[in-house]
Amino acid sequence: LERDALFRKKHNIHVSGNNIPSPLGDFAELSSRFGCKAKLFRNLANLGFKEPTPIQRQAIPVLLSGRECFSCAPTGSGKTLAFVCPILMKLKRASKDGIRAVILCPTRELATQTTRECKRFAEGCKFCIKLMSKQRVKRADLSKFSCDILISTPLRLKLAIRKKHIDLSKVEYLVLDESDKLFELGLLKQIDSVVKACSNPSIVRSLFSATLPDFVEELARTIMHDAVRVIIGRKNT
Ligand code: ADP
Ligand code: MG
Repeated sequence: LERDALFRKKHNIHVSGNNIPSPLGDFAELSSRFGCKAKLFRNLANLGFKEPTPIQRQAIPVLLSGRECFSCAPTGSGKTLAFVCPILMKLKRASKDGIRAVILCPTRELATQTTRECKRFAEGCKFCIKLMSKQRVKRADLSKFSCDILISTPLRLKLAIRKKHIDLSKVEYLVLDESDKLFELGLLKQIDSVVKACSNPSIVRSLFSATLPDFVEELARTIMHDAVRVIIGRKNT
């Protein structure tokens, strides 16, 4: 649509892929277009978020439409909400039926920070949001472990798969956050074992990054199906 194209241009949003959903004009569209629950919606207002950032405008409707997504937007541009918001909306309500979403972060610090952010967005909702800590990995058996959103570094999660039999076969959403760093740190093998363990055929994968080097783009293309590529500003700045 011409209107979408003009709107994207105005916000410096570059997209490629098939049938790309229209960007969000404002947060109110989360309710009017996508039926966002009042509580979640209120949390955004309580956090003082007035307008979606460009990455949020485009990545949120893409993920809400059930499409896979690989995205590049500068540091500090609100990528966390861009994937947490659609996950919380799609999961709808808390459930004890296995692990439903996984977010991989390159370092423990980033994983801790992302967990905190997730909990702020989900405040007042009953979602179970957990960080895969060292203590948790030490447990004898994680095969019955369940939560709505699990945040982890690739190493911790790989160990939980290999040694503690954590079950990722029900994961519906997998996010690789800060993927450029994930790769710089040489975590490819660990990421690969997580990607394989998340064996649900209807899983929706997404990848977020501050830069999009060729090797990240290549990986995105190998693990994703009919993905939408979203770039805010320029690819490698
Ligand atoms: P990134 O992952 O792109 O580096 P973050 O998701 O960490 O960025 O967000 C950076 C900061 O911006 C955080 O403090 C976050 O709470 C805030 N933020 C996110 N979205 C919005 C918004 N729409 N309006 C105002 N502040 C926002
Ligand atoms: Mg981030």
